Amino acid sequence: MDGVVTKFLEGRVSILRDDITVLNVDAIVNAANESLLGGGGVDGAIHRAAGPELLEACRSLGGAKTGDAKITPGFALEAAYVIHAVGPVWHGGDHGEAELLRGCYVRALELASRHDVRRIAFPCISTGVYGYPIEPAAEIAQQAVRHWLEHEAGIEQVVFCCFSDHDLETYCRVASRVLS
Ligand code: ADP
Repeated sequence: MDGVVTKFLEGRVSILRDDITVLNVDAIVNAANESLLGGGGVDGAIHRAAGPELLEACRSLGGAKTGDAKITPGFALEAAYVIHAVGPVWHGGDHGEAELLRGCYVRALELASRHDVRRIAFPCISTGVYGYPIEPAAEIAQQAVRHWLEHEAGIEQVVFCCFSDHDLETYCRVASRVLS
């Protein structure tokens, strides 16, 4: 792992800066688009690392709506599964973005639980090309995960995998109020 790992909620939540494709967890979450047929950013990185079978598996899923998620094997990845979550495009904040973003975290956690995933890693969904501001996105992500861990058994470890120092700092600052 790249850099410092910061732990919250009795070690059940970690925040780190890394490339999500190299993490040794049971499932990684992809910030996908509705087509589920690949794209740029973390989506492109995951498809490159998983190999062409991932695209083949995604073709059979028939896409996913914003706020929803679907699961495939991880193929060449360390992770057994990829959960393709479709976050919202930011349109200023009054187009239901918060509920849609929360929804895709919850949906990803539901799918993970159903597949007996113990350790899952999330990227900062929607905060790249989709333009969701990092601080409110981090708050939604962390609240959704906290609520899940406090109410559901199964998932033991959640990793928030940030890709920049700025995102990492923001996640840690938000965690000091949401996860402490
Ligand atoms: P979206 O379209 O949902 O905004 P992006 O892929 O553009 O998706 O960005 C989502 C987040 O993923 C951003 O914070 C971006 O910096 C991050 N990211 C890009 N590549 C990687 C990677 N290899 N590992 C982890 N995070 C990544």
